[in-house]
Formats: sequence, C-alpha cells, structure tokens
Amino acid sequence: MADVCLICRGATIQDGGVHPRSALMRWVTCFACGRYFFSVPEARDAINGLGNDDRFTLSALTRQALDSGAPMELKRDNLIIEAAPRLALSDRLDRLLLLLDERASDYLSPVVLNKDHDFPLVWARGPAGMNALVTIAKQEGLLRTDPDHVVLTPKGWARVWFDPSLNDA
Ligand SMILES: [Zn+2]
Repeated sequence: MADVCLICRGATIQDGGVHPRSALMRWVTCFACGRYFFSVPEARDAINGLGNDDRFTLSALTRQALDSGAPMELKRDNLIIEAAPRLALSDRLDRLLLLLDERASDYLSPVVLNKDHDFPLVWARGPAGMNALVTIAKQEGLLRTDPDHVVLTPKGWARVWFDPSLNDA
C-alpha cells in the first residue's frame, strides 16, 4: 500500500477514500494530478498500461478537471487522452510563463515552483520534464533562476503580455 499515485507515479498522494456512490470506486487526491476517481480493477489496469507520454497527458487533464471544479472519473478507455491537445514546446513554455504570471505579485517577485506538484499545470512530462522546460526558458532569456525561486525577465513578461494566443490558454 505505497502512497504512489497511479497516474504520475510520484509519492504525492495527499488523500484518498471510497466514492459515496459505490464502494468499488476509489478516489485519490494527488498533489500533482489533483483528485480523480477510478473503478477497480479495469481503470487501474488501463492506467498501468499507459506509456509515459500518455500518463503525463492524463495527469495534466485530471489536474485541469479538478481546477475547473469537476474531478475526473477514469474509465477503462483512453478516449480522453486521444482527444487531448498535442502541445508543442512553445505551448508548454507559454503555460510555464502564464503560471509564473499568476503567481508573481509584481514584476520582480520571486516565484516558487514545485516541480513535483506543478508539472501537470504546464503539461510537462513529469518533474524532470518541468526541469527541462525551466532550463529551456532560462536559455531563451525568459526567466532567471536561483536555487529556490524563478523570476520572469522583461523578455518573459513581454511574451506573456503581447502574445494574444495566451489569453485563452
Ligand atoms: Zn499524481
């Protein structure tokens, strides 16, 4: 009974229990993936059978579902993953910049990123993928990093505010 999340496989389980509708439906709250429901054993097997790209896409989708107020019920099929957008690197960088914009109280405010919890918000491939995105954004001159914080640069802020495609991201 390790507290490892079925989807992201991180030791990031915050809470869990049984759905009031059915004792066969379990729910889990993961710091990264948010809260999701699954029936046993079919959904569990389906999630276990996913490749890494699909698992992290599912993680982004479940987190998005929770943040929009409707925790996701996982079924045995992978239709939601197949229907998910295929994000390019630039789309993921944009999501990272938007996250920093949301969290920064002012232009020079240092922002704390928790790669183990925040990676689904930028559709990164896990904590390592989030690290890669931060490194690339730094190489592009979009942000500065120190051991604990990230700060958007003027170039980073300009990309957040002048790219109209970010408004509905
Ligand atoms: Zn998770």
